[in-house]
Amino acid sequence: MNSWSMQPIGVVESCFKEKFAIPRQPGLCPSAEASVLLLPPYDQSDAVRGLEQFSHVWLLFAFHQTAAQGWRPTVRPPKLGGNQRLGVFASRSTFRPNPIGLSVAKLVRIDTDQGVRIHVGGADLLDGTPIFDIKPYLAYADAIGDASNGYADAGTQPLRVSFSAAAEAALQAAAARYPRLRALIEEVLAQDPRPGYADDPEREYGMTLYEFNIRWRCAAHSASVDSITATHL
Ligand code: SAM
Repeated sequence: MNSWSMQPIGVVESCFKEKFAIPRQPGLCPSAEASVLLLPPYDQSDAVRGLEQFSHVWLLFAFHQTAAQGWRPTVRPPKLGGNQRLGVFASRSTFRPNPIGLSVAKLVRIDTDQGVRIHVGGADLLDGTPIFDIKPYLAYADAIGDASNGYADAGTQPLRVSFSAAAEAALQAAAARYPRLRALIEEVLAQDPRPGYADDPEREYGMTLYEFNIRWRCAAHSASVDSITATHL
């Protein structure tokens, strides 16, 4: 078969500055903010004319940060606790023969005053992700009400999230610029981003959202945020 070469049509700017703690699928953290900046020569308002009529978009992208690690025929889905192997094509693993990702996101707005920037909500995308295509989400064709979710149906109980006094103070200080930061942290930590096998209440975890380093610990179905520190990225 022929091989295909493709150029990104855009690049993502996202609140998620590192891979760890990004939700495992879109829509799980509705407060997650991102935008797709179209790249030349696709950065023309004509290319998005009519897109504003849709509430959601499909984003096709490259798992650029893990692509160099290649692929394996079987993977261990986190939904199964990380200890059962299934086929790569039965999973949404990032380690695929072609490192292509597919996410649906809420279309928030399109700015066309300086280039073209498409603001989206709830995406599961790392900052800097290359975008290969954008398509409108068509509920009549794309939403399948009686679809079965296989092993991905395994429910997980969301964690309760609390903040230390220092973290509360940092949230207040950041509130004018990042009014949704608290909601975002709550949504991300409720998903319990720890690897399936980790269960040490003393262990502190860290993630970067926007320019903030957030540190937390987990115990008994709850996550407590110790600190929120502004970093200079
Ligand atoms: N919704 C997409 C799909 O099904 O193809 C992605 C699912 S994948 C399981 C989601 C994970 O991809 C996130 O939790 C994050 O760790 C990872 N991820 C997001 N953007 C990435 C990127 N540009 N490179 C590598 N990994 C990325």
